[in-house]
Formats: sequence, C-alpha cells, structure tokens
Amino acid sequence: MGFVIAIDGPAAAGKGTLSRRIAETYGFQHLDTGLTYRATAKALLDAGLPLDDEEVAARMAREVDLGGLDRSVLSRHEIGEAASKIAVMPSVRRALVEAQQAFSRREPGTVLDGRDIGTVVCPDAPVKLYVTASPEVRARRRYDEITSGGGAADLDEIFADVKKRDERDMGRADSPLKPADDAHLLDTSEMSIEAAFQAAKSLIDAALKKN
Ligand code: C5P
Repeated sequence: MGFVIAIDGPAAAGKGTLSRRIAETYGFQHLDTGLTYRATAKALLDAGLPLDDEEVAARMAREVDLGGLDRSVLSRHEIGEAASKIAVMPSVRRALVEAQQAFSRREPGTVLDGRDIGTVVCPDAPVKLYVTASPEVRARRRYDEITSGGGAADLDEIFADVKKRDERDMGRADSPLKPADDAHLLDTSEMSIEAAFQAAKSLIDAALKKN
C-alpha cells in the first residue's frame, strides 16, 4: 500500500495545480478523479446517449480507462456540467470509486484529488487536505484562466456556474462534497498557490516522518 494524499474541494479552488505540484515533488502518481466523471460523461455525449439513465451511465463508467484520461479533451465546460449530473448516480460512483481505489494502492504513493477522496475513496489516507476559496475568487480565477488564453468569458456567467456546481456537488445524497473530519483546511481566497503548496508540504513532510 503506497502513501496516499487525499485532496478535496470545490471546482476552481486550485486543487489541480496543487495536486500536480505535490505529486511531482514527492515522485507520486497523480489521479484527478474529476476526469473519470468527465470521461464517463463524454462517452455518453459522444454516443448520443441520455445523461439520466443510470444503468447506461454505470456501464460507461465501468469502461473508463484511467490511462487514457486527456485533460485537454475533457476540460470543456459542457463536459464538466454533464459530469456533475451523472456524479449523483450511486452506481456510477461505485464503479469509478473502485477504479480510483485500485489506483491509490500504487507504489510508492499517490495523490488523488476530487470531492470525496478523504471521505469515501481513501478514508484512511494519512494526509487529507480540503482546498477551498470563496465563490467570487474561484470565478475570478476561472475567468482569468480563460481570458489569458485569449478566450472570451463572462464573469457573471462563470460566477453563476460556480454556484450551481457547488450546490449540486454539496447537495447530493451520495458522497456530497464536504471536508473529512480529519482534513486540514486550506483556504486559498487570500493565499497564493505557492503559499498553499508550502503549507501542504509541511503537513505531508510531518506525516511522512510518522509513517
Ligand atoms: O473536478 P471536476 O470539475 O473535473 O469534476 C467534474 C465533476 O465531477 C464535479 O463537479 C463533480 O460533480 C464530479 N466529481 C465527483 N467526485 C469526484 C470528482 C469529481 O463527484 N471525486
């Protein structure tokens, strides 16, 4: 069993950047579990299948290949929206959680980021981080990310989307987004990603010493 670092938090809180940096620093493999929900949603959309048929969605979820997750293809806004719709389905979650747990056993260690890693996927992880930021800050970051790449965006629209996604992720019955009781909270509203990384690093170093 490798050393597991569980990172949860709402959309656009900075957990992706933080997770990749941590994985690189410690030589651990990284899984962005949001991509597994996105890949399932994309497979349904591509096949012209409905997003509200749990049995069909679960079948697609069982076929997701963790080795073939391509962020550039899966990052589209519509795919994220569709992902959060199928993520409410218990049998979709069961299939994806099983694959994520298998990944978490890889040596020498893994970083998994998502919404339910510390609470459901890896409840025994020795390090759990809950990365958050106010909805205003998260919307602004997403906006800057899109516009700095030359894209067009509407800040009010992004803010409304962030709130809608939060409601769906925090309000669902199965595995709602919430910090595990033993998670360390990192609020990045007024903290740079660098400062968040340094805070995370001290927690991880301390846990590795105990391990
Ligand atoms: O993090 P990302 O925006 O890529 O995730 C897309 C959607 O997948 C989330 O809004 C959430 O509904 C779902 N998800 C989840 N559990 C995870 C990761 C993502 O329910 N562990």
